[in-house]
Amino acid sequence: MSAQEGMKIVSTIPEMRTSSREARARASRIGLVPTMGALHEGHLLLVRDARTKSDLVVASIFVNPTQFGPNEDYSRYPRNLNEDCALLEREGVDMVFAPSVEEMYPAGDDVTWVVVEAMSHRLCGRSRPGHFRGVTTVVAKLFHIVEPDLAFFGQKDAAQVAIIRRMVRDLNMPVRIEVCPIVREADGLALSSRNAYLDTRQRKAALTLYRSLMRAREIFDQGEREAAKLMAAAKTELAREPGVRLDYWEIVDPDTLEPEPTIRKPALAAVAAFVGNTRLIDNILLEP
Ligand code: AMP
Repeated sequence: MSAQEGMKIVSTIPEMRTSSREARARASRIGLVPTMGALHEGHLLLVRDARTKSDLVVASIFVNPTQFGPNEDYSRYPRNLNEDCALLEREGVDMVFAPSVEEMYPAGDDVTWVVVEAMSHRLCGRSRPGHFRGVTTVVAKLFHIVEPDLAFFGQKDAAQVAIIRRMVRDLNMPVRIEVCPIVREADGLALSSRNAYLDTRQRKAALTLYRSLMRAREIFDQGEREAAKLMAAAKTELAREPGVRLDYWEIVDPDTLEPEPTIRKPALAAVAAFVGNTRLIDNILLEP
């Protein structure tokens, strides 16, 4: 199948598996872009990278209930499958896999979990217990269903990338993980489906996450290598915005997510904060 034949939208696991096996039989390289929909330019960058590196591009759209906590935004998470499919078709995606919750979790809450125990409690995992367990479980399922050669993820979710890489390595999954840079608005705000929750005032306040990262980079570039000092300056910057409540601001090893007290090799500076009820994340790499 090629993009010219039109994009196929499938919602069942057998149909998805049959299609990808047919493609595999023609020795095609299959690229998978897992998403939760409400697509923006960040997602489309992943799709474009997949298009250049694979013969068959599959995008999945699934708002995965198992990665949301009980008091989080699962039920109101933005969903617009028709718009998303129109965007994906324009990008030359070959197949969209958009299963129902029942298709993915037929036994309801009785789930067989895939957990990267050493890392699941780090960064977002600390404030969102069970989040990364939900992510690794659904991504493992998608890998088994689609059987991609390549899978594309955004640096926006840097901890997710580290944890998925570890899962793939530890479980010998035959897939190569490709990572795309963070796509930002002109003023620096990282694109996120959750930005749709923000009103005008909150949209302005949200920029302080990026500003705090830039503040850390500024003093890092002046030679500061102590994480505590960088974090203190960044948190001071964040505290200047009263509408924003800090969740975490950390400097960690980008592969293990362990705290990095002194920066001697590339380190991940990551922030999560609430703007009103909306939880946003952002990060940069600090490279000595
Ligand atoms: P989501 O739909 O939020 O689960 O995101 C699906 C994929 O898109 C994940 O791999 C994200 O890291 C990636 N992504 C989300 N926002 C951005 C962004 N602003 N820039 C690059 N990739 C992104």
